Amino acid sequence: MLKNTLSYARELDAQDPLKDFRKEFYFPQHNGEDCIYLCGNSLGLQPKGVKAALDSELAHWQEHGVEGHFRGDMPWMYYHRFFSEQAARIVGAKPGEVVIMNTLTTNLHLMMVSFYRPKGKRNKIIMEGGAFPSDQYAMETQARYHGLNPEEVVIEVEPREGEHCLRTEDILDVIRKHGDEVALVMFGGVNYYTGQYYDLETIAKTAREVGANIGYDLAHAAGNVPLKLHDWGVDFAVWCSYKYLNSGPGGPSGAFVHEKHGDNPDIPRFAGWWGHDEGERFQMKKGFIPMKGAAGWQLSNAQIFAMAPHKVSLDIFEKAGMEALREKSLKLSAYLRSLLDDLVTQGREFEIITPKEDSDRGAQLSILTGEGGKALFDFLTENGVVADWREPNVIRIAPVPLYNSFEDVYRFAGLLERYKS
Ligand SMILES: *Cc1c(COP(=O)(O)O)cnc(C)c1O
Repeated sequence: MLKNTLSYARELDAQDPLKDFRKEFYFPQHNGEDCIYLCGNSLGLQPKGVKAALDSELAHWQEHGVEGHFRGDMPWMYYHRFFSEQAARIVGAKPGEVVIMNTLTTNLHLMMVSFYRPKGKRNKIIMEGGAFPSDQYAMETQARYHGLNPEEVVIEVEPREGEHCLRTEDILDVIRKHGDEVALVMFGGVNYYTGQYYDLETIAKTAREVGANIGYDLAHAAGNVPLKLHDWGVDFAVWCSYKYLNSGPGGPSGAFVHEKHGDNPDIPRFAGWWGHDEGERFQMKKGFIPMKGAAGWQLSNAQIFAMAPHKVSLDIFEKAGMEALREKSLKLSAYLRSLLDDLVTQGREFEIITPKEDSDRGAQLSILTGEGGKALFDFLTENGVVADWREPNVIRIAPVPLYNSFEDVYRFAGLLERYKS
């Protein structure tokens, strides 16, 4: 039984094996207390170790100048390598299939250059309706870049009348219906608005069955839900590091390229010197020879000051472990849901549009508010809640297992209960 009392919430916290990770993060303050920070789906909190990591890179630069590329524990020349193993564990990949570089939308375009290769009638992109705008713009402009009309080639899968989320069977139907006209199936992992975690394994399988490439944008999935990109046979994926991965605003992106492509130097790509064979990168010769694996898609030398915080964050994930995090995450959001359900029973007018099944969601619950939802949101903000409002009327709440507590969830629901419109 999930009980609606502070002492019960505190009891859950006391039993939580991950409870000490909260101390590794800075919380924004409200009237001298930690905010109820439920916005890790938008920007994760700052790990306390970030400052030391940045200071260390500054000192390295100060002491060594250009020689910093070759000296120290993490020479800048090979910096990207120090991330692959840990990042690969988060997305279920082999280390060589993952590289940390650039930012998310940049990587999405780079991957589409390689994996959206329309040919004849096989020129369509199937994507989720209501995708994050950057993804919509990327699909639209990639289509135009190939001289195609996005209105003809970009197919969006929409929810059924009266529903908010997509049914897997409908997604598969659309893929099968367009069959040999599909060049690429490009989906989010977890939808940013509804919080729906798509059945990525089944979607990938069906995309492959019709001979299409399959790519995922894991912005809201990486560090949130279990992923097995390699086993699922996904062609490529991209994600950012500043949401669930707590690596700071504009933090670096990750890219996954399946090994079946990574070792194929003939795949067309937009290249830069950092993707060139490491052995002869500094010979400055003509003729691009890609490095093996995802690293062969790199353009530029590593952005040390953006990547150093990411390493701090990945070390924390490594200590906590994705399995334990997922277990707590499901408990936290189930507790939140039960408290919200109580309020609905008491006559509050809102609806949770995120799917209920564990397999269909991550940490986030999206609350569709009735009229006056913005006033409710403002009330929460005035009372120390950091959450996120999405037009027209959704409040997104993400209890994050690394640093949120059951007490956070309890206090949040308590404020909702107190609110009188
Ligand atoms: C957050 C998010 C982005 C942001 O893209 P950036 O290039 O990192 O600014 C893009 N796509 C999705 C699905 C997102 O959730």
